[in-house]
This record gives sequence, C-alpha cells and structure tokens, in this order.
Amino acid sequence: MIRTRFAPSPTGYIHVGGIRTALFAFLVARNAGGKFVLRLEDTDKKREVEGSEAHIIRSLRALGIEYDEGPDIGGPFAPYRQSERLDNYKKWAEKLVAAGRAYADPYTPEEVQKLRADAEESGKPFRFRDHRPENPPVWDESQPLRLKSDPKDYAWHDAVMGNLLAGADSIDDFILIKSDGYPTYNFAHIIDDLEMEITHIIRGQEFIASTPNYLNLYEALEITPPIFATMPHILNETGNKKLGKRDGAKDVLEYFRDGFVQEAMVNFIASMGWNDGTEQEIFTIEELIAKFTLDRVGRSGARFDEKRLVWMNSQWIKKLDLDDLYARTLGKSQTLSDALNNFWGPAGQNASDDERRKVLTIIQDRLKTLADLPTLSEYFFTRPEPNWGMIDENKQLKKLTRDEQIELLKAAADKLGKLDAENWNAEELQNTLNELLIETDSKPPILFSLIRYALTWAPFSPGLPETMMLLGRDETLTRLAQS
Ligand code: GLU
Repeated sequence: MIRTRFAPSPTGYIHVGGIRTALFAFLVARNAGGKFVLRLEDTDKKREVEGSEAHIIRSLRALGIEYDEGPDIGGPFAPYRQSERLDNYKKWAEKLVAAGRAYADPYTPEEVQKLRADAEESGKPFRFRDHRPENPPVWDESQPLRLKSDPKDYAWHDAVMGNLLAGADSIDDFILIKSDGYPTYNFAHIIDDLEMEITHIIRGQEFIASTPNYLNLYEALEITPPIFATMPHILNETGNKKLGKRDGAKDVLEYFRDGFVQEAMVNFIASMGWNDGTEQEIFTIEELIAKFTLDRVGRSGARFDEKRLVWMNSQWIKKLDLDDLYARTLGKSQTLSDALNNFWGPAGQNASDDERRKVLTIIQDRLKTLADLPTLSEYFFTRPEPNWGMIDENKQLKKLTRDEQIELLKAAADKLGKLDAENWNAEELQNTLNELLIETDSKPPILFSLIRYALTWAPFSPGLPETMMLLGRDETLTRLAQS
C-alpha cells in the first residue's frame, strides 16, 4: 500500500512550490490507489504563524487536493499534528539513549557559538562531533539531545534525482530533541514517517544536503528508510534563480482572487517539472492521476512562467460549462465552500442573472482570467463614457484625423440605422458591416475597431455582431451617434 504525505510547517501561507509538493505526493498516492496524508509539522513554536493550519487546509481543498488522513479529519495514525505526538518522539529518543546512540548536549548555546566561531577562525568546518563530551550528563530533558552519529560515506537512490553520494564529512551529531522539549524536524519527521507507514518521502530539494544525516539516523534506529523523491526547485520566469515572493511565490489563494480557476492552477502546477512524454499540455486532475509517475519528473529546476498560467487559464475558462463558469464568476466555487470574489463590475452586480448569463455566453472565449470580467462586461450594463484617448493610442486609428473618425462613425450609424429591428441578427449585421467596409473604402482594423470603441470604450470586446445584438438596435445606434 503506497502512502505519501504532505508535511507543511504552519509558518505562513503555502506558495506554488509547496503546493506542487503536495500535488505530486497526492498524485503518486492516487495513481497507485494508496493513501495521501496531511501532517502538520508544528514543532518550531518560534516560527509558527497563527491561522496557518486553516489556511493550508483551505488551499489544499481549493485545489481539490483531498487528503485521506489529517489533523482535522483524523485517521488510523492520529494525531496528525506533531505537537500532539511528543510522547512518541520521547519514547524513540529514550531508545536511542539506551542504545548509546544519543546523548545530552552539555554546552550552553553561548559555548556552542564559541566553538563554531573558533572553527571558522581556523578555517575549518564546524562539526559538533569533534567536540563530543567524553562523559555527557544524564539526559533530563533540559538539555538538547543529540544523535551520536556514525560518520561514513553514503550512496543512495532518489526516485527523481537518481543516484546520489555524500562523504562522511557531512555527517554530524545533530539535535534530536531541543531544550524546549520539542523534537527537531530532522528527528520528528523520521519517527512520524515510520509510525505512519509512509512509503515515499516527496519533498523539496532543500532537504538533499541533510539526507546523509537522516540515513545515519535511520541506521541508528535500525529502520529501513522510505523511498526518497526530491522535487527540483521552481525557478523564476527567466530560470536564473529560485522563485521568490516577487516572481509569483505568493499565497495560492491569491491566484483564485486574481481570477484563476482551480483546473488551470492544478494543470499548471503539475506541469512545472512534469510531463507525460507527449505534446499534451491540458490535463484534467483525473488524467493527471492516471498518468502521473515520478520517473517523468525532471531533475533540473522547473520554470514558473506566469504567461503560460494565463494561457492555461483561458483554455480552462473556455472549457467550463456555462452554469459552472457563471457560479464561479459570482465567487461560488464548487470546491471552496466559502465565497471568494464576485468578479462582476459594479453595473454587472446590479444586473439580473439572466442578463449576466447572456453577457457571459458571448465573452467566455475572451476571458483570460475571471478578473477580466468587468473590462469585458461593464459596457453591456451601463453606457460607457467616451474615451478618445484609447483611439489616439491605437496604431491604426491614430492615422486618421478626428474628423475622419467621426465621419466613419456617422456612416456606420446611418448604414446600421437602415437595418430594422427584425433583421437585427448576426448574419444581417455582418453583411451590413461588410457593405459598409466597401462603401467607406476602409479596412477592418480601422473601421471595425473604431466601431468597437464607440460601442464599448473597452480595450477588448467580443465580435461586433454579437456585441450589437446584445446591446440591441436602439442602444447601438445611440452609442454610435453619441460618439
Ligand atoms: N515541515 C517541512 C517543511 O515544511 C516538510 C518537509 C518534508 O516534507 O519532510 O519544509
């Protein structure tokens, strides 16, 4: 039975890198019909940020990354918060003490600091084991407890990174239990993974350097380590450094507020470092579950390309059925029980469901994110103020004088005015516009753009016949005449 886990520390929100780790661990478990566990690593009380646990859970749910066991739902290996498992760590720590593989650290923090500074001064790497006390005191839990390491070279296999090596130099007597009684991550995760029967440790690249020390501890505990699968870093857009907050490593829930849809987020996150070996780019979560394997995760850093995310989002918005998309525009997502944004603009908010749905039907194909909604829809609900600045900035239109522009619009109003209400349909409107093009001896990027601006005063809008049909004959003619 394959069991994977996502083990975040509640030190703030989770960004795309963390979510990718969670997603890959989820996919490995689901692909194999196994279990996916959420475990909260809350043993560093100084770094804890209030509300993180709820935020992490909400983010996972928002993305449809459902866990089978976790702090809020329990499970066969409960509790799933490390702070509630302190007795377990103590039990294993005592075993190590009894076996002569752990000892109380007799130094004060200042003394350790001094030893470290001395080593630095003499140009040598600091290793605690070079200062191992000959007769350590009996561990009374007020001192840090350290592993008595057994330095040696290691070669190990990582399901993503392949065969890895490290020399004995990297092995040291690291802290298992701190003087505050809490275990370190280095110790606690190994005990929990063992007790929770985790088969695959899927985590970020930053843990590779510590892996030899973990291997040393697994040996001291006489346990076989799970499979390691290390995710490469996510790099910024240009691929030259690790993704930072400024390049997009923001709270994943922010993306929902910015108008990205769940399917696109999951699709995009899965594509950072993974592909199925074909050209396919759009995957549903079900397809990802069916196709995901760790051996297709790349070893080098994956680039965070926000333009690609926007493209995927537009593809997904096009694919959603209208009822579903409509619910999401109102902030009613199927996966988030509480509302996110209502994306409609002020006039759209006052419109009826029926009016909004009609508008959505014709703009669905043009939405890159749900946040484009006001720009693409407000002019249907309220007559926009003319903004000639937009025309003056348009490459084609600025070749015409204002008088020429106004003359063209007048010709459009006259011509369209001849089309009566019964014939106000897509086909007739298109024919009329084509005739107008010939009569005015103009070109589509000039004539049609100009009419678009006069009707919407928006940077982008749906096709002209659809726009005119939805606005209706009177409103279309009024706007053309007013401009
Ligand atoms: N608590 C660790 C972190 O948040 C988890 C690493 C792991 O998955 O083992 O970075």
